[in-house]
Formats: sequence, structure tokens, C-alpha cells
Amino acid sequence: MAKEEIFKKIISHAKEYGFIFQSSEIYDGLSAVYDYGQNGVELKKNIKKYWWDSMVLLHENIVGIDSAIFMHPTVWKASGHVGAFNDPLIDNKDSKKRYRADVLIEDFREKIQTKINKEITKAKKRFGEAFNLDEFVSTNRRVLDNQNKIDKLNERFTKALEDNNLDDIKQIIVDNKIACPVSGSRNWTDVRQFNLMFDTKLGSVSEDANTIYLRPETAQGIFVNYLNVQKTGRMKIPFGIAQIGKAFRNEIVARQFIFRMREFEQMEMQFFVKPGDEMKWFEFWKNTRLNWHRALGLTEDQIRTHKHQKLAHYANAAIDIEFDFPIGFKELEGIHSRTDFDLEQHQKFSGKKIQYYDNETKSSYTPYVIETSIGLDRMFFAILSNSFEEEIIEKENGVKDKRVVLKIPPSLAPVKAAILPLIRKDGLPEKARVIFNSLKYDFNCQYDEKDSIGKRYRRHDAIGTPFCVTIDHQTLEDNSVTLRYRDSMEQERVKIHKLNYMVNGLADMKKLLKKL
Ligand code: ATP
Repeated sequence: MAKEEIFKKIISHAKEYGFIFQSSEIYDGLSAVYDYGQNGVELKKNIKKYWWDSMVLLHENIVGIDSAIFMHPTVWKASGHVGAFNDPLIDNKDSKKRYRADVLIEDFREKIQTKINKEITKAKKRFGEAFNLDEFVSTNRRVLDNQNKIDKLNERFTKALEDNNLDDIKQIIVDNKIACPVSGSRNWTDVRQFNLMFDTKLGSVSEDANTIYLRPETAQGIFVNYLNVQKTGRMKIPFGIAQIGKAFRNEIVARQFIFRMREFEQMEMQFFVKPGDEMKWFEFWKNTRLNWHRALGLTEDQIRTHKHQKLAHYANAAIDIEFDFPIGFKELEGIHSRTDFDLEQHQKFSGKKIQYYDNETKSSYTPYVIETSIGLDRMFFAILSNSFEEEIIEKENGVKDKRVVLKIPPSLAPVKAAILPLIRKDGLPEKARVIFNSLKYDFNCQYDEKDSIGKRYRRHDAIGTPFCVTIDHQTLEDNSVTLRYRDSMEQERVKIHKLNYMVNGLADMKKLLKKL
């Protein structure tokens, strides 16, 4: 199935099954803002728990906070966001669509890369066992030509970004004949800078009002609380502060479902280290975070790392963890070595000393910071697209049928077990309720008695419920039920008293955390 088609299917599936709704839909929606429905909120909560526990429970030197969305406006001057949190935007005069100029160029580069990958796949097939990748990419004419194009483009693009040369960014688009994906035309405006922060007024009297910002990242809430946490928690370096919370960006491009939203959630952890130790910790967190993704079953061809060509003003090393979304390989998480930039800036702007006193060396220093920053909504999208499958199955009577199943890792699934009386009489619903009431304290169960058992199985496949528990007449005789597994659709007879143990054994969060 073409990726575009999968993308559309995932969006409509997410809506149909109560995962994601367009915000204010009855008023025709609000662009790039989304609401999470009854199943979406559960999946989101579980992703948050997986992240939070992997940081705060598993590391004795990481603690969490929950800072306010509104912050003193000087925070954003100090952090550089007021002056430099801009994206280069460009409009197509024919389609009237607005784009991020850097994203247009990156997508163009990705197209060339795709051509190279296709050549490699073809050659692998042709040469079989004898295929030698290094030899192939260093000798094949078409691969070499395309790689040359990418290298030249990278060099010019990096320089234009570094010099903030908006004219050359536009010229790159013109020279490479990059066309508007909607109109196909190359009729572009000039490139302009656009600040991504939303502002609002604090206070009820407009003359006294102060402009404040909706935070564009959660990280600054951690930096301004560094001293509070370090002192009250008696934290010793190295240590980390984790936070999950909303962030807001007035994004230019708003056509990518929950990949790019104007209101979204971040899961960020700032790890404070001794200056000079930052590269060691950068590597540590890169590997730790990659393992976190791998534990969910994401494979090497689905996630890759991308080293930043242009470093942000605060960073001395940075990589992105990219995921192969239905819209292509894109950033899922960023890992940045932020140096002492933020703490130094806050010292300068606040006039307060923000340092760490090292008892061993009897001296003070401003810590360096390694940041891991992942978008919760992007992670949600990654899980959704990775788990979405359409399967052709053969029924008992030989008839072929289709099922849509979300193979969400059981620990993250919104509902762990569906409790289903086979029919709505003979005391089966009552027995099912007893089972439901005994399991509901341990995990999210759903009682469902409407429609045929086959339809109910499909409904639960579609929301990713890993276990269906069916109560039938035999249950009344010997306290056994049918346990059906979502992925294999296999069924087995088990005793009621074993259900808790069996479901938890596969779906408990511990299962995931122990893989780390
Ligand atoms: P991009 O280049 O895609 O705009 P970014 O480099 O600006 O992302 P960061 O500032 O590093 O992103 O933010 C950290 C993480 O927050 C990103 O890896 C992403 O998962 C998430 N994120 C950033 N912007 C958005 C958004 N508009 N919608 C959803 N998630 C976002």
C-alpha cells in the first residue's frame, strides 16, 4: 500500500475508533490542533508512564517537576527565543500555500536519497549473497551522481542557514527547481523569518498588561528551577530533571496530522553534568534513548539517527532520532548537548548565581546540560502507524475476511482486556460482571455484550486490546473462560483465577521497563 494511502487510513481509523479528533470539529476544526478521544487518552497516558518511569523510577539521580506554562517574559529573552526562535517561510503564489523553506529543501534531499536507496535495493536483489554495499556505493555511476548532488546541496544549505542568508535559501529552491507539492508551480515569494511563539497579555487591565508567551518548550521551566531542585533535593551532579507538559508553537506548516501541531506535549529531561563530561553523557543518553525505542519493537529500518548539520545557538552536539512515519523519515526526538548556555543566560538576565558547588574540588561551576526531548504526540503517531495492520484472514467456513488490527505493544494498549459474555442471557452477563469487577483494579478492562462475538473481537482488534476474555456456559460449570490473543487470534481455555496473572504478565508496564 502506498504510504499516502496508509497515512489517510490511519487518520480516519484514529477518528473512527476514538483516538484523535480534530479540535472544535463542529465548527469546522482549528488547524493543527487536535483532541484525544477515549482510547487516545489512554494510549497517551501509557506512553507518558513508560517515559516517566524509564526516567524517574529507573534512575535514582533523576527527579521530575511540573512547571507552569506561563513564565516570566524575560525567560524567553534569556533563552534566545524572543530574538531567534524563527523559521524561514516561503509562499507559493499560485496555490497560496505556505511552506517552511528549510523543510522544502530537506524533502527534496530525501527524494534524491530515496533514488539511491532504490538502486541499492535493486542491486541487492541482483547480486544476492555476493552483494558488497561499500563497493557498490563507491562505484555505481547513478549512486555517485546522486550522492554528489546531496553533498553539494548539504554544503550550500548548511552555509545559508549558518549565515542566516534568506536570499540564498530561496536561490537553492529556485536552482534545484523545487516545485510546490500542491500546485506544481515554481512561482515563489521571497523567504521571510517568522517567530513561532504565541503571545498573550497578563492581567485584566490592558494598559498595565504585560506581554507574556505560551512556552514553546518545557525545558526552560527546568532551567529556572535548577537551583530549587538541586538544593531541596540535595542532588549531586550528574543528575537529571524530567518534565512532561504542553508546549505551543505557531507552526507555519500545518498539514501533517499530529506530527506538527500548534499545541503539543513534550517529554523532556535535562541532565546536568560536569563541564568536560558532556560528550560521554551525550553518548550515554543517545544509546539509552535508542534502547527505549527498540524495547517497543521499533527496528533498525524504522528508526535512524541524524546528526545535525547546523547546530542551534546553544548546542555543541546534537542528533535527532528519526522515525519512518507514513510521511517519510522525520524527527521524533532530539538529543542535544546544550553546554552551559541556558544556565549562564539565566544567571546573566536574572542576576542570580546559578551554579553547583563541588564538595570534592571545593569549587563552583555552571553545569553543562544534555537534553533528551521527545514529542509525546509524535511518539503517539509513531506507535499508531507502527501498529496499524490490515490482515486478510480465513474464517472457519473458508470465507476470506479482512481485519484491521492495532498491534500496539500490550503495555501501552488503551484497554488490556475485553470481558465478553458470549450471549446476553443464562447468567453469562452476571458472571462476566463478576470477572470485570475483580480485574478492574489492576488494569483497564472493558465490558462489552453488544453484537456477535466475532464483531466484538474485531472492535477490540481495531483499538489494540491484547486480550479478549469470553464467558460461556462452560464458565458457569468450571470457572474457565476463553482467552483470545489479539495478534495470533489463538484461543485457549484458562481458569478465571489465572486471568490477572496472565494479562499482567504480558501487559504490565514492568514488562517494558525490564527490557531497558
Ligand atoms: P522540527 O524540526 O520537526 O520542527 P524541532 O527540531 O523544532 O522539530 P525541538 O525543538 O527539538 O523540535 O523539539 C523537541 C521535540 O518536540 C521534537 O523532536 C518533536 O518530537 C517535538 N515537537 C516539536 N515541534 C512539534 C510540533 N509542532 N508538534 C508536535 N511535536 C513537536
